[in-house]
Amino acid sequence: MAKVKIAEEWLNSCSGCEIAILNIGEVLVDLLVNNLDFVHIPVIMDHKYYGQTGEEQKLDIPEAVVGIISGSVRNEEHKEIAEEMRKKCQLIIALGTCATNGGIPALINMYKDEDMLDFVYRQSPTTDPGPNPTSHIPPLLERCYALDEIIDVDIYLPGCPPHPDWIAAAVLALLDGKTEFAMPERSVCDMCPTKKEGKKGLEDIKRMLKTPDFNPDKPLDEMRCLLEQGFLCLGPVTKAGCGGKGKPPRCLSTRMPCRGCYGPIRKTSKPLIDYMGALASNGFDTSKMLDRRGYLGRFSGAHGVLKRLG
Ligand code: SF4
Ligand code: SF4
Ligand code: SF4
Repeated sequence: MAKVKIAEEWLNSCSGCEIAILNIGEVLVDLLVNNLDFVHIPVIMDHKYYGQTGEEQKLDIPEAVVGIISGSVRNEEHKEIAEEMRKKCQLIIALGTCATNGGIPALINMYKDEDMLDFVYRQSPTTDPGPNPTSHIPPLLERCYALDEIIDVDIYLPGCPPHPDWIAAAVLALLDGKTEFAMPERSVCDMCPTKKEGKKGLEDIKRMLKTPDFNPDKPLDEMRCLLEQGFLCLGPVTKAGCGGKGKPPRCLSTRMPCRGCYGPIRKTSKPLIDYMGALASNGFDTSKMLDRRGYLGRFSGAHGVLKRLG
């Protein structure tokens, strides 16, 4: 049977999502031997966009059945590549929270480009001050976009990085002839085995400079819910799946609160309102929470969630 062609691209991306693909491990090896043929994946395979010697005028990516795209869209080059992938691939998977919701790079949506460039090239303590680079730099778009603000997306696999179980499950579903795949619409709390002792009055937010109350020799289900302990755990408003299929959330397994890296539970969610509700129902004075926007929008600042401050 002919192998299914697959193309992969990284836009405004850190390559963690590509490492998540490699972390599929032996299942990926089997797929590559029997079912899949990567026709384009710049992170590991050389491919010249404009012909071998740059002789072509138009960007060209080979045709494929499945196109996987990581990263958000921040400049003209990202946009052009995303549009070419959409033209050449029958199905597009947005891989990782940068692609699905803007991710960490979309924090820039709170600031002006000139302030960002000034900080990076002159004000940062680890930089020798210099002018902004001007040659071979694609023009910036007016803000950082999630992929579906630029092109149509068929399948969303959030996570920073996404768990390899979901990437494998999505690809296997497509190979099985399905044209749709969606992760369950559940929250991190739904997958968290910590002990809930009921709604007690939360007084002050505890920063993670304090250690939560737990016994490292005891299993996770003997630790009290971190939100009930006063730590800002974003489990109630974050999409589940980070531990892999059926496994507990990754940060909670290391006794750390969830920071929201899988983004909102569903597209229509209102995490800010829902989280304020979760805090209020635990008796917490929500006015004590500083920088709500940045905290709740840290991984999902596209789609107009984070806007310029001034
Ligand atoms: S989602 Fe996370 S791992 Fe993937 S590209 Fe963005 S920052 Fe990197
Ligand atoms: S708030 Fe955090 S610690 Fe509590 S149940 Fe949800 S994910 Fe677990
Ligand atoms: S617990 Fe939250 S922050 Fe940690 S990996 Fe899971 S979704 Fe991401």
